[in-house]
Amino acid sequence: MGEFDLIERFFKRPARQATVGIGDDCAILQPRPGTQLAISSDMLVEGRHFLSTVNPRHLGHKALAVNLSDLAACGAKPLAFTLALALPRADEAWLGPFSEGLLALADEHGCELIGGDTTQGPLNICITVFGEVPVVNGRSQALLRSGAQAGDDLYVSGTLGDARLALEVFRGTVSVPAPVFDAARLRLEAPTPRVALGQALRGVATSAIDVSDGLLGDLGHVLKQSGVGATVDADIATELIAARAVFTGSEAIKSLEIDQSQWRRWALTGGDDYELLFTAPTAARDAVASAARTSQTLITRIGQIDAAPGVRLIDRNGQTVDNCFLSFDHFL
Ligand code: ADP
Ligand code: MG
Repeated sequence: MGEFDLIERFFKRPARQATVGIGDDCAILQPRPGTQLAISSDMLVEGRHFLSTVNPRHLGHKALAVNLSDLAACGAKPLAFTLALALPRADEAWLGPFSEGLLALADEHGCELIGGDTTQGPLNICITVFGEVPVVNGRSQALLRSGAQAGDDLYVSGTLGDARLALEVFRGTVSVPAPVFDAARLRLEAPTPRVALGQALRGVATSAIDVSDGLLGDLGHVLKQSGVGATVDADIATELIAARAVFTGSEAIKSLEIDQSQWRRWALTGGDDYELLFTAPTAARDAVASAARTSQTLITRIGQIDAAPGVRLIDRNGQTVDNCFLSFDHFL
């Protein structure tokens, strides 16, 4: 199977909203009047971002999900994406489920594949997504990292740390019962981008970011770009590990040999969660609750923004917790 057959067979579908889709030198997108384009790229490299054993359907899903998560963090509505793919060989048994997982998530969000590039080489997947953000009265409605204000509430969507738990099981540092592992593994391999929530937060949140490298590390980007600090309730964040809730109060949790500080570290620094971390004024609590309802997404208030720089961790009694956590950095 040659390059063009491969594209035709696994990736090309009739263009819908794009003016020109796959097959010409460029794809052409026509942004609607009164909108801006939000654009983001993410690359997935074998051995670095995924294990060679990963189910190709999940990999296709994840490659697009991490990009849609960036659009969600900006409050953008997905429009289209391009796919640059390096493959060791044209393996149909791999390309079938990979493209199905990818295009199923694309259809779910009305995000069209409009072009890309295909080459032979070590497995590498690079996607660029294009989304739409309205401009109202000359002001962009995009959510940015830079808008957090002292006094704002700090929220996170969904659950935290389960992807990290799955990674630790793969690494062999812990073992958990099969149903717990299966659920955690889905969070690692097939995350849910919070696209509807991001759009519902336009005009409500003052800042937002998606949690890809760990809660505290990504919070650090918001704080730096907004020129503020934050207080985070480490116990509330730790309760957001879905797998942990399964064990709470049971005998099983003791046999796991995962202590409280370990759970805490995974919740605060785990990575690969693809949840939205955002800030909103206290006066907007009803509006945040309503955004959670319309997008059918769990939202938890985990802290607040302070004028003083830095991150302070507290426990459920308001006592200071030592902040010795570092987030993931590819070059450290
Ligand atoms: P060019 O050489 O002009 O860059 P190519 O021959 O590489 O174009 O690609 C032919 C067409 O197929 C282009 O429209 C390109 O966007 C599209 N394409 C290539 N690879 C992919 C892919 N993996 N997924 C979707 N479209 C692709
Ligand atoms: Mg090309």
